[in-house]
Amino acid sequence: MKQLCHLLKLTEEELKREVYNYLQQKKKNPICKDGFVYAEGEIPILLVAHMDTVFYKPPKKLYYNKKQDKIYSPDGGIGGDDRCGVYAILKLLEKYKPYVLFTQGEEMGCIGVTKAVNKLKKPNVKYIIEFDRRGSKDCVFYDCGNNKFINYIESFGFVLDYGSYSDISVLASKWDIAAVNLSSGYYNEHTENEYIIFKELVNTINRAENMLKEYKKAPYFDYQEIGYTSHTTYDNLEAELELLVRYFGIKSKNQISQILSPNVQSRKLVLKKQRNQKDNKGDKK
Ligand SMILES: [Zn+2]
Repeated sequence: MKQLCHLLKLTEEELKREVYNYLQQKKKNPICKDGFVYAEGEIPILLVAHMDTVFYKPPKKLYYNKKQDKIYSPDGGIGGDDRCGVYAILKLLEKYKPYVLFTQGEEMGCIGVTKAVNKLKKPNVKYIIEFDRRGSKDCVFYDCGNNKFINYIESFGFVLDYGSYSDISVLASKWDIAAVNLSSGYYNEHTENEYIIFKELVNTINRAENMLKEYKKAPYFDYQEIGYTSHTTYDNLEAELELLVRYFGIKSKNQISQILSPNVQSRKLVLKKQRNQKDNKGDKK
C-alpha cells in the first residue's frame, strides 16, 4: 500500500519518468514517447493503464481507514483513476514479463493511446487487459462482443458490465485484438470524494496474476465488433443476442426482433439508442 500511496502523490511527469526508469532497470527496453511508455514482454498479454488524472495537482495528504481498508484524502480527489491501474501493472511486473503500455491524456479523449497505436507495430499478444474501471468485480468490453473472450474473462471471477469508452476501445479495434477493462478498486472517480478500497485492487491483481500464469492455455482472441457483424449462421446470432440482452439490458420484443433481423442498419439503430441511454445515465468507462 505504501507504493500505491507514493504513486498517488506523483505528478504525471514524475510518474512517467519513474515508470520508464523502472522498465529500464528491468531491462525491458522501454519506448518512451510523447503520450506513452511501452515495453514488449515474454508473456503474450498486453497490460494497459493511464498515467494522467483529471486533477490539476496530486494530493498532499492521504488518509487510511483501516476498518474499511479505504484510502482517501482531505485535499479532494486522489487520482486512483488510474494510479490504481499503474500500481497493478508495476506489481505484476515484479514476477511476470507481460507487454505493458502506460498512456497519457486518457481523460482528455484517449490522446496518448492514439499516438501509441499509430507509432507502435501491432504486438503479438493473445489479448489486452486494462486496469481502469471503478468498483470491485466488473469486466467491460466496450464494442468488443467476442463471446468466447467474455466467457474466458468471467471464468476468473469478473462480472460483465457496460462501459462507453476508454483506451482499449482504440487499441482493440485498431489492432484487432480482444480487450477487457477490469475493476481496480477506485470509486467516485473524477470527484472530490474519490477513494480506493485497497483489498479490491489487490483482488483484481491476484485474478490478473492467474490470467498471466495461464497464458499458454489461452487462444488468440480477436476483436469482434458487437452487433455490427452480418451473420451467416443462427448460432452466432443467438450467442450475440444473449450478450446484448445481458450487456444493454434489452428487454422489449420489438428491439430484440430488430436485433435478430439480418438488416445491419436496423441493428445499428437499436444499439445506438441503447448506448445513448446508458451513456446519459453517466455509466462511463
Ligand atoms: Zn481512467
